[in-house]
Amino acid sequence: MSRIQPTRPQIEVIAWLAIFLLLFCLSWGLHWHERLDEFIDNHDDYPLDHALLALNISGFLGLIYSALRISDLSREVNRRLQAEKNVDWIACHDTLTELPNRRFLDSVCAQAMSDQRTQEAYAAFSIDLDGFKKINDLLGHDHGDAVLKAVAQRLSSLFPRDRVFRLGGDEFVVLARRTGNVDFAALGERIVSVISKPVTFNGVAVDLGASVGFALCPENGDDLSQAIRHSDCAMYVAKKQGRNLVKPFVSSMQDELAKRIRVEADLRAAIKNAEIVPYYQPLVDLKTNKIIGFEALARWRTASGEFIPPSEFIPVAEEAGLIVDLTDQLLRHACTDALSWPSDLVLSFNLSPIQLSDRLLGLRILKILGDVGLPAHRIELEVTESAIIQDAVTARIVLDDLVNAGVRIALDDFGTGYSSLSQLSSYRFDKIKIDRSFVASFETDEKQDKVIKAIIALGAGLGVTITAEGIEEESQRQRLQDLGCDIGQGYLLGRPAPAERLAADQVSARISQLR
Ligand code: C2E
Ligand code: CA
Ligand code: CA
Repeated sequence: MSRIQPTRPQIEVIAWLAIFLLLFCLSWGLHWHERLDEFIDNHDDYPLDHALLALNISGFLGLIYSALRISDLSREVNRRLQAEKNVDWIACHDTLTELPNRRFLDSVCAQAMSDQRTQEAYAAFSIDLDGFKKINDLLGHDHGDAVLKAVAQRLSSLFPRDRVFRLGGDEFVVLARRTGNVDFAALGERIVSVISKPVTFNGVAVDLGASVGFALCPENGDDLSQAIRHSDCAMYVAKKQGRNLVKPFVSSMQDELAKRIRVEADLRAAIKNAEIVPYYQPLVDLKTNKIIGFEALARWRTASGEFIPPSEFIPVAEEAGLIVDLTDQLLRHACTDALSWPSDLVLSFNLSPIQLSDRLLGLRILKILGDVGLPAHRIELEVTESAIIQDAVTARIVLDDLVNAGVRIALDDFGTGYSSLSQLSSYRFDKIKIDRSFVASFETDEKQDKVIKAIIALGAGLGVTITAEGIEEESQRQRLQDLGCDIGQGYLLGRPAPAERLAADQVSARISQLR
């Protein structure tokens, strides 16, 4: 990339050659050799032959020395040039995949800015691998590196190598030249399909996916770097909507991204200022009508007094990598609250699906319990089936750590996902929570009624406690009680309430005052 400048040794060699040539021409032009012959003839008595011979020999030796010196110098010059080239290459390439890097891309953008024609010639594709983190975490960095190299090769088979960039991590950008009538959505699909083929390393094949966003220059950006920012924005939207999706940039995506950035910043601040607190909803024994514990439900009350529901901020916390801090904070808070409850009440606490792929989760939870002084048997963790299916190996390790320490595990939202019987038999669940969508309609929908009956029978067979969520009507409570459901939860039995109200209204007075 840098222009080649002559080095100092090169200039010296050229200068000496020029002096030598000048002297030679001068002596030739002034007929020095003839004068020298004349001088020798006139001075026979001087030993000039010997002197001249000595002069010739030393001149010859000087010539050899100069030749050797010149070859040394040119070797040194070449070595330096090569070193400079290497430094340039390393600065502009990713050493793992050997693809051009972000710096190279910046220089391409800068060049495109100064050249109007290049600006119009590209479509930018932003590519982010789906499931890469899991490969890295579960199979190690060597496997992750092999995946990145394979992706680089596959992209280079579709596009010229100097137009495929690795920006870091599992993010790639491709600049496709716009010649003819190209269907860019179809090109995006091709990118997804070449990346999605399994990658085999050390005999283990892993499935990969990719989220792709694209933007056209100049339609979607005044210059190439803006088009890349927009393709990035489209990729982010594709990623949010699922795996292996291709999205073209549309201007409304920017508003969505801006909103998400705002929510993320607010959430970060809210966690820092401990503005998100647990509310508690009672879990009621349907046979005795007694509260047996509370489910902690996160509540974010903003400075303006507005409540943001967990369905909005939990996914943002998961995506922004804030869920670990948020969970630790909420769990510590909830365990501290639970310490002041009667000792037979359990605390039920929700875990996000992605948390079950964190091997250290179990140890972190047990540390919090230890710090606060809440016995492990007083806590129940609610997990969903999707959490277990996403990463079964790690989920088992985490759940085993917890179960062995005496923590109870509840399967949340049962009936809405896979409802897999093999999951039920292979994990040691203490409780199954029937999703509230069944409770909402089982009185009028015979099929839902049968499903609820079957789940209750399954619970009885497996020795697992069954909880029904979302009980809003007395008739629902009565029917569930008649069917033999163990525990109920819902607005009829108690709405989620802050810890202060709980102490006064619920824990001390128990269910008799609640209903
Ligand atoms: P979930 O675990 O299924 O929690 C039950 C949800 O149903 C709660 O919504 C609760 O307020 C609501 N609910 C309870 N009884 C009734 C009822 O009778 N009728 C109706 N219509 N709704 C009822 P919420 O608090 O908005 O929480 C929504 C979801 O957010 C939770 O669903 C849970 O998956 C998640 N969540 C809440 N807190 C946390 C948390 O601290 N950590 C994590 N990871 N997720 C949480
Ligand atoms: Ca729950
Ligand atoms: Ca639930």
